[in-house]
Amino acid sequence: MNSIRSLLLMATMVVAFFACTQPSGSAPEKGVSFALNQYRKQNIDSIRYAIELDIPAGKTDKILGKETISFHLHSLDSALVLDFNVDAAHLKEVRVAGGKADYQFVNEHIVIEPKHLVTGRNELEIDFVAGDLSLNRSEDYLYTLFVPDRASTCFPLFDQPNLKASYQLTLKTPEGWEAVSNGGLEAKTMENGKAVYRFGATKPVSSYLFAFAAGKFFKATQVLDGREMTMYYRETDTAKVARNRDEVFQLHARSLAWLEDYTGIGYPFGKFDFVLLPSFQYGGMEHPGSIFYNEPALFLDENASVNRRMARASVIAHESAHMWFGDLVTMEWFNDVWLKEVFANFMAAKIVHPGFPEVNHDLRFLLAHYPNAYEVDRTAGTNPILQQLGNLKNAGTLYGAIIYMKAPIVMRQLERKIGGTIMRESLQEYLRSYSFKNARWDDLIGIIDKRTPQDIASWSNVWVKTPGMPSYDVQAGKLVQAADSVKGRAWEQPLVLKSIQEGNSSLAFPNNDGTGYGYFKMDSASKKWFFENYGSKNTLFADPVFRGAMLVNIWEGLLRGDGPAPAKLAGYTLNALAKEQNPLLVDYLLANLQSAWWVFLNAEQRAEMQMQLENTLWQLLNGTQDKGIQTSYFRAFKALASTGDGWQKMHGLWTGKLVVKGLVLSEEDKISLAYELALKGNGDGKTILSQQLHATQNPDRKARMQFVIPALSPDEAERDRFFESLKKESNREKEAWVLDALAYLHHPLRAKSALKYLRPSLDMLQEIQLTGDIFFPTRWLHNTFAGHASPEAARIAQAFLNEHSNYPYFLKNKILQATDLLDRSVKLSATYGRQEHSPALSQR
Ligand SMILES: [Zn+2]
Repeated sequence: MNSIRSLLLMATMVVAFFACTQPSGSAPEKGVSFALNQYRKQNIDSIRYAIELDIPAGKTDKILGKETISFHLHSLDSALVLDFNVDAAHLKEVRVAGGKADYQFVNEHIVIEPKHLVTGRNELEIDFVAGDLSLNRSEDYLYTLFVPDRASTCFPLFDQPNLKASYQLTLKTPEGWEAVSNGGLEAKTMENGKAVYRFGATKPVSSYLFAFAAGKFFKATQVLDGREMTMYYRETDTAKVARNRDEVFQLHARSLAWLEDYTGIGYPFGKFDFVLLPSFQYGGMEHPGSIFYNEPALFLDENASVNRRMARASVIAHESAHMWFGDLVTMEWFNDVWLKEVFANFMAAKIVHPGFPEVNHDLRFLLAHYPNAYEVDRTAGTNPILQQLGNLKNAGTLYGAIIYMKAPIVMRQLERKIGGTIMRESLQEYLRSYSFKNARWDDLIGIIDKRTPQDIASWSNVWVKTPGMPSYDVQAGKLVQAADSVKGRAWEQPLVLKSIQEGNSSLAFPNNDGTGYGYFKMDSASKKWFFENYGSKNTLFADPVFRGAMLVNIWEGLLRGDGPAPAKLAGYTLNALAKEQNPLLVDYLLANLQSAWWVFLNAEQRAEMQMQLENTLWQLLNGTQDKGIQTSYFRAFKALASTGDGWQKMHGLWTGKLVVKGLVLSEEDKISLAYELALKGNGDGKTILSQQLHATQNPDRKARMQFVIPALSPDEAERDRFFESLKKESNREKEAWVLDALAYLHHPLRAKSALKYLRPSLDMLQEIQLTGDIFFPTRWLHNTFAGHASPEAARIAQAFLNEHSNYPYFLKNKILQATDLLDRSVKLSATYGRQEHSPALSQR
């Protein structure tokens, strides 16, 4: 009690000087500070919201709201603080016990003096205009996305995860609209020409999990295992829907059944629906009873690769697992957000494996997690899994590859360390103990510690609470942690090394089972032998995990300047592709080939290899029997082809005059072909794009194209105007569209003319964080810098960081992460450029 009061006092003092017009000095800072979070958790409980929103037909017309908040208050020693992150005009009236109450509206909060309140039960009524920021409004539909602290941008509430509450929602919508929310539909009536949807009160849920969607949706309902599920979707391609529908339902049913069995707890939230949204910001969002998904991730094209089908199964299993891990038991504060993510991924892996017996799951785990985790953990901007968070308004910056990719690796290590049985029993106790409540990582560590004699707390300190990756050398036939590896920390993990004798040379293949985490340096003789014997009858190559693990080692080595040179690696990769039949490895090789191609090869090196590259990819595209692999080759060819002949082939595929046996092109494929043709063509881009726009049936895809097309313009002035338009917040509403456009604006072929966008894009970053969704700052930076490989681009980022020495810690890290490959590319071209090229050729 004491520490809570003093924390609150500190928070009050900090804001007092800029909120001095406030009478009581109780003005809270913007966002939800940790102190405010703690104080409210101590003082408020039994919260119930009844919210009514009147949604008009017009996308920009005001949404009027009424709300009753009832709650139990323990003491009256401080003003009541509600969160409402809008401008003052949105707040109309506050009533307490039926009478009009005065309040302060300050720093995105409604502050009500204790004299209006009582200890025990209180009831507030608030009339307001809902804020639009997190309502994702389109012409004929809208949907909420309130994670992590965005519910308060729509309506007033206590917007923190550890104040779970019951929500009862009533939505008035234009006639003909569907509506869906967490609670089951209790009644649908008509009133003055509008539909009125009344949803039942939810079980206790955190504010970031409250959600609704309304608009023109198609609906499909199925009953599986006695559970009725309804899918809401927008896709107009009925064949596509029919092809995917049953599988999407079954994947949900299988995931839920598996989770009920593993956890020993029945699905906790009653009704279960899901909503597919055409440009949803994430793969999915785990709103209990109403999961939202990105529609293209669930409705696959006819020729979808095994990777895509597995990704679909995984996202469904992931969101389903959240019903227990995250929704039933929720983190106490957002610094532990990784915990729900790691368990969702961890469970998803267990759920998805049996459904894909044809897939090597160790290989899949390796390729899905390690390269992506290293992509952040090798940079100067990396972070520990468990991070500090002082204010919820920064919670979005916690998300990233360390949470999604490194944490599952670490959790798999933990399970191996303590065994599957103790893991499962510990998780069951954790879920039972904290059902409909909140818990921290250390609470789980406590539960595990009781069951094992091992020192789990020390292990957690190295792997969870500190950042970075170790590196290892092979010395005298043994793997040793490199001397400079992350300040001499001891990384406890089981490691393997495969050594063989080939003629006179001893070859060493570190981490050949692909489970170790870190950079495993290989000598050049072993790398050379690996590529020269790729696909040979040597027994080592029979194991795809061996191939994958070595490819990861070699890619990490390339980035660290340990060789081979990028052009050499590109050649090796093309040869390896021709001998590789495993779809996961084909995709990984193609991803590395494309990175090497655009980021690490200069224009002259690309020109030298261009014909060989296109011919090889075209042959592989035509020669493969596997539809998934064929699609992968099609996408790579489309991204890399640039000769006149390559352009003609793409054009033929696009018009349909050229047919590759077995290759089926979806509308999405046609659109992206048109984009590449416009980008790489000679002046006929405008015609191609307008033909494609005309031919595009789906209205959501059509609108997206209309947005992206100016970013592809051959006219630099038009591209400049497009970039300028992004400075206006309303033009960044559809984040997926913006990201598409940025990728073309900064395409390597146009990198020079895009240099001028880099600095303003960095200048916008803080605003991007405030106005965009949680992944947007990272993706904004990534798609801005991914196409650049020049020293000028690297200097622009460096200058920005130098000029902003007090830049927010999280965002500075995001910049360092996004420019890591760029910096490495600049360094590498200084290393290799002179060796491989005459002075004249190395000029770029
Ligand atoms: Zn998740």
